[in-house]
Amino acid sequence: MLLDLVFPKRCVSCKKIGSYICKKCRKDISFAEPFCPVCGKKAIDGVTHFGCKKKLGLDGVVCIWNYSGVIRKAILALKYKFTFDLGSELCLLAHSSIKQNFSLSFLKDKILVPIPLSSGRKKWRGFNQTEILGKTLSEHFGWRFSSNLLLRKKFVRPQTGLGKKERNKNIRGNFQVNPEYKKILRKNVQIVLFDDVWTTGATLKEACKTLKRKGFPVVWGFTLAKT
Ligand SMILES: [Zn+2]
Ligand SMILES: [Zn+2]
Repeated sequence: MLLDLVFPKRCVSCKKIGSYICKKCRKDISFAEPFCPVCGKKAIDGVTHFGCKKKLGLDGVVCIWNYSGVIRKAILALKYKFTFDLGSELCLLAHSSIKQNFSLSFLKDKILVPIPLSSGRKKWRGFNQTEILGKTLSEHFGWRFSSNLLLRKKFVRPQTGLGKKERNKNIRGNFQVNPEYKKILRKNVQIVLFDDVWTTGATLKEACKTLKRKGFPVVWGFTLAKT
């Protein structure tokens, strides 16, 4: 393509020309160890430990990579300026990594719901990278995609730079479920809440609580990376 000649793709980490995530940097990507979203300890496939289960809590979480190196740089790059080709490279990589590292039960029939940005932030940025990545990923997995099941109630400060307690407080009561949710609510429907990075999990946990209060039976968390 002509554009590739004028603006060649460069690796977001080592700047090598050819792709956004080069072969060499791919080798250094590290997978996050599956963990329980409640206690944070090791858990097979990220399924919440039996003893950690809560009525309104996550049923499990899948975080693909550790938030470092080329993955961190790619996610940050997308946050500030969404580049579709970089987004596609990352999603392809995410898809093959999940197939390699997680049991296939996670891949069965799900509805992916991206964590929404507050409307103020979306307007300011012009896009929600979580929504764009989530849509691409759901296409790879053959899942349904719903970007308006979960709505944001009010403006909150970004979670960046806050401690664990402050994050919980900042996000509490922040989401609401689209009044038309009954159209997709079924006894066996499984929701995958998608965000780019898992830090304390406060955002995903709050969103999960909001959905479960409306009767959604199974809610998983899913992020590209874990800090
Ligand atoms: Zn590189
Ligand atoms: Zn646990």
